Amino acid sequence: MTPVKASDTDKVLSIAANVRRVRTRMRQAAERAGRDPMSVRLVAASKTVDAARIRAAISAGVTILGENYLQETRQKLGQLGQAAGVEWHLIGPLQRNKVRYVFDLFDMMHSLDRLELAEEINRRAERLGRRLSVLLEVNVGGETSKSGWTTAGLLNDIRQLAALPHIQVRGLMTIPPPTSQPHEARPFFRQLRQLRNRLAQEGYDGMAFDELSMGMTADYEVAIEEGATLVRLGTAIFGPRPERH
Ligand SMILES: *Cc1c(COP(=O)(O)O)cnc(C)c1O
Repeated sequence: MTPVKASDTDKVLSIAANVRRVRTRMRQAAERAGRDPMSVRLVAASKTVDAARIRAAISAGVTILGENYLQETRQKLGQLGQAAGVEWHLIGPLQRNKVRYVFDLFDMMHSLDRLELAEEINRRAERLGRRLSVLLEVNVGGETSKSGWTTAGLLNDIRQLAALPHIQVRGLMTIPPPTSQPHEARPFFRQLRQLRNRLAQEGYDGMAFDELSMGMTADYEVAIEEGATLVRLGTAIFGPRPERH
């Protein structure tokens, strides 16, 4: 372990304060909506964040890290080790030719966004004797630039997805279109919840729809009011990210 420098102490303290503040707001949002605060989990989105700051977040009680890039995750796992009780979630897009690396790095994937990728994951998982927990990414805003199923597209593919035994569907995820005000994201979060309710009601063998991964720094309180069970927060925990990629 590298020794802690003076400047690192400040970072550690501010990350701990950020985690506390975020948890208070998460609890208040849940209470406003008459929800159990324990039903909402924090995913610290840690892309571009170094291992020392991630360690600070873990010390402050963070138990789920959300990462976007495989190579970066592998490096961090090398530096931090598999800390007991800490889960790593893939929240960014995955290329089909990288599927084999996912199993040893991640406990859950939020960003399963197309049938062909699901089929490839299922094929690889079968070969490895593994199963992967996933959320299905839905492009509720219908933006052409964005990945994920449209609502209609998912309803069209859902039976084929249900037929893949090595994929454990746990719920849905969305990244709504950018808005200038948090409340403008509400209709998109509501749409994801309604789609989840519909799928849960229709009932598909082997699929669960308990999880709704929605809400980021700008709009997580609204997302919680609309039923989020996983909020993915980067800036609110770690501060602004450097431009990259
Ligand atoms: C980076 C990232 C986040 C966190 O974004 P913030 O606005 O910094 O909270 C959430 N979800 C995904 C998929 C991301 O890539």
